[in-house]
Amino acid sequence: MSMSGAEYLASIYGTEKDKVNCSFYIKTGACRHSERCSRKHNKPQYSQTVVMQNMYVSQQNSAKSADGSHLANMSDHEIQEQFEYFFEDVFFECEDKYGEIEEMCVCDNQCDHLRGNVYIKFRREEDAVKAAEDLNNRWYMFRPIYCDLCPVADFREACCRQFEMGQCGKGGFCNFWHVKPISHHLKNLLARSSRSRYRHRSRSRSRSRERYPEKHEPKHEAKHRRRSRSRSRDRDRRERRGRAPPKGMVTTEESPLIHK
Ligand SMILES: [Zn+2]
Ligand SMILES: [Zn+2]
Repeated sequence: MSMSGAEYLASIYGTEKDKVNCSFYIKTGACRHSERCSRKHNKPQYSQTVVMQNMYVSQQNSAKSADGSHLANMSDHEIQEQFEYFFEDVFFECEDKYGEIEEMCVCDNQCDHLRGNVYIKFRREEDAVKAAEDLNNRWYMFRPIYCDLCPVADFREACCRQFEMGQCGKGGFCNFWHVKPISHHLKNLLARSSRSRYRHRSRSRSRSRERYPEKHEPKHEAKHRRRSRSRSRDRDRRERRGRAPPKGMVTTEESPLIHK
């Protein structure tokens, strides 16, 4: 039995044979040609996944910049630790505010369309839609966030397999995700915390209210509550990690995901 035109198009969607839709955009949610691509980038209306473009700024890159001399002495260990603070901060903020997260990763690629991209897959599509709208009005570390729904449903499809085996010849300029790894310690922490929160949903709601007080609350009270929460969060972190955060580490209080 021969295929109809529509069936044929569906069967080649996003493959090399597809001359209409961009396979890179479908697989990785990003394409080096961006708007100038000769193939279509169909932004999804619904998706479980959002992308925050170029959100993570690697301390390694800043260290190489002319004004980043104070970072030049950072060890790989310190850079990784700062990265994990960033990861944890964004993960908990988004899960508290928008809903349960299935997966999150950050690209370590050097090319502009993937560098520092943060991908978050929520359990529910409506949470992703809400996050994509809201995050576009917010800032992180004094930089505006650019967030979109993203077509990537399976993170494994977007990842560079050669990179995972330590054999990608394209280095940072590869067009598939080179995911920046996080420690087992952080992985376990996120999994544990997420599980306990979604087992006691009501508790997680009240906690999130505590961190993000309602607008009508008197300012000094709100400030005090934010402070104490932030302080106890820092203490939690120190306890979990068994030591104080590195010097120069920006705490949650100084780097909130604030509204623009
Ligand atoms: Zn493209
Ligand atoms: Zn690669």
